[in-house]
Amino acid sequence: MAEKKPVLDEDLKNVISLKALVDRGSNKVIFVESDGDFFDVLFSFLTMPMGRIVRLAEDSVPVEIGCLRNLYQSIEKFDVRNFRSNECRDMLLLPCNSADLQCQNLKLKIDDDRPTRYFRCYNGCFLSYYQSVICPSCASTFGWKIPVDNTQVGGVFVKERPRLIITDDLQVISPVSATSICLFSKLGVTDSKTTEELTFNMGIQEALNLLMHSFVSKTPLTEILLKNEPKPSLGDVHSSQGISIDSQMHGDTINEEEKNISLKLVVSKSKKIVCYAEAQEDFVNLLCSFLTLPLGYILEKMRNVSWKGCLDQLYKSVEDLDEKYLKSNFHKELLVNPKLAPGFRYENPLLGIEETSFYYLNEKLTTDKCCIPDNTSAESVKLNVFYPKSHEDSDESAQGFLKGPDTFTVTDNLVVRPLSLILEMSVIQELKVPFTDIEDHIVHMGKREALLLLVASFVGDSALTNTFIRELREPKQEQ
Ligand SMILES: [Zn+2]
Repeated sequence: MAEKKPVLDEDLKNVISLKALVDRGSNKVIFVESDGDFFDVLFSFLTMPMGRIVRLAEDSVPVEIGCLRNLYQSIEKFDVRNFRSNECRDMLLLPCNSADLQCQNLKLKIDDDRPTRYFRCYNGCFLSYYQSVICPSCASTFGWKIPVDNTQVGGVFVKERPRLIITDDLQVISPVSATSICLFSKLGVTDSKTTEELTFNMGIQEALNLLMHSFVSKTPLTEILLKNEPKPSLGDVHSSQGISIDSQMHGDTINEEEKNISLKLVVSKSKKIVCYAEAQEDFVNLLCSFLTLPLGYILEKMRNVSWKGCLDQLYKSVEDLDEKYLKSNFHKELLVNPKLAPGFRYENPLLGIEETSFYYLNEKLTTDKCCIPDNTSAESVKLNVFYPKSHEDSDESAQGFLKGPDTFTVTDNLVVRPLSLILEMSVIQELKVPFTDIEDHIVHMGKREALLLLVASFVGDSALTNTFIRELREPKQEQ
């Protein structure tokens, strides 16, 4: 982010101005002040599906987001015959954002490269994200592209013109609570003589950098604004460190329900690590579904987890933000309780995330039920989605993204391949584990393990070990 960089007029629509209070003594950003456009962009991060974020990281700022990059690259390499339909691969590598219709109006669109498109069949029976399919009801093509309104720039999640401030570790503070000297001392400003106000321009690339740095740093604004570091360090992950996950994982009951996914772990007895697992497609479907999840959903599940990023602070701030700053409760829910786009849910309900619904009103597509007039039933204007997973699959009992039955090898850091003895052997060699040190364990997964695995794959590079060995052996705290 170039400081006080002159901008051309035609660039102005793609630039947001920020005022930063900088401590010259420590060379740190104390906080940044800006208007709603900046906070809309920042808050929109919470709505983004992980698959899209990993893809953006691949293309621009290659940060390691736990094991999700390995998972993403593994799915990219799967043979198309492994998937239930051609679209399944696309759904994982380019998942739709359920707040896409809102995000169209962001001032900076960091993920505008392959936008989601919406089609209807000629008789209007179904909506499809893909044009190249035939309507299962009327057999017509999906030739009718639904236009998406992207003309009202601004005021996406945040009400027009509030000035909010945000700290270096992404805590959003309203100016009302900020008008005290206490805040400055709380933020570590001891000497006002060393502080300085600087103005910066943020464009799409800077917004993208901010998102990526926020996964691996507690001071992303300082890094982006002051040091201009080219890339966050790679591979700086806490492989040896277990994850401490709040035993009352948020929104989850720990009651053991039926555990319905089983897998075989190959464990090193002396190192107490999972070398690799052999699993069926149900387990890999669950892993695949992680890429469809919005960032905000994962942050909601990982309260009290220690990790190197600071996006959890952003999540908490939005949750606690006075409602007068957000456009409506619907908009708040899009951020703190984000859903999946219709058609993206993995049928095995271990993660319990819901899908949103599309309504078609006044020739416009919306997901906001409040737009439906009182005299109209939601059902009458709801647009059913032709579920892309079942495009070419007539098996009604089939679930998930992958065709079964199939067996996969999954490494601790989530490299996934169809059963591969070569991969298994290379892992054993790399870990220098003698065969006498290895034993097999069959483990079963319920809701709790699925959430643990999700969080473990997001924050570190030993997802299987942290899910099945370290964490589960720790005594659970009673509330
Ligand atoms: Zn039709």
